[in-house]
Amino acid sequence: MRKFMLVVAVLWLVFQASVFWGEDLGDFTISEIDADTFARIKGKSYKDNCPIPLEDLRHLHILHKDINGITHEGELVCNVHIASDVLDIFRALYEAGYPIERVRLVDEYDADDEASMRDNNSSCFNFRFISHTTRISKHGLGLAVDINTLYNPYIKTVDGKLTVEPSTAGNYTDRTRTFPYKIERGDLCFRLFTERGFEWGGDWKTVKDYQHFEVSDGRAKELYPDYR
Ligand SMILES: [Zn+2]
Repeated sequence: MRKFMLVVAVLWLVFQASVFWGEDLGDFTISEIDADTFARIKGKSYKDNCPIPLEDLRHLHILHKDINGITHEGELVCNVHIASDVLDIFRALYEAGYPIERVRLVDEYDADDEASMRDNNSSCFNFRFISHTTRISKHGLGLAVDINTLYNPYIKTVDGKLTVEPSTAGNYTDRTRTFPYKIERGDLCFRLFTERGFEWGGDWKTVKDYQHFEVSDGRAKELYPDYR
């Protein structure tokens, strides 16, 4: 009987290990940008004038849960220097059941940020130079991540006029209200990013970008002195 119990215990451990490693190998992965992925991003998020070498980017495959606890597959492209942090963050969010509705490549929206945000899509890399400069935005370097973008909009007031991006997020500018997918200071998403050195756009003073987590200016300058 004791031998039988031992066999059961060993089989159980092997099973657990296979679940663990299987998840690790299959569901949360970091890959180089292969030909298939490049074909999907070329001319879209990876525009033809993009000076960032493909070797600096990584393709992440992740799992995430929506507000009903349903598991979905997700993928994003980000900079190699934050890839393992971003993977760890999405894994921790998944394990905690932190709701994220959609994580698709912005290329599925033809790299149109507004369309991606209206769809509440979470994403990272989308190359562009900052208007009229040779500087590259942190999303353009793959060094910023946007989460649950519809419910956590970018808000700016110019000459007393409120600008909201996406433009359909008017119901989510009042941050004293409670609604699904809302990112708040001190919540798990905030903590996981800021513990790894990311800054939150919800902490900015002149504009608010509640969906946005980015590496510091100092770190971005260190990595890309020509473009910051
Ligand atoms: Zn952003």
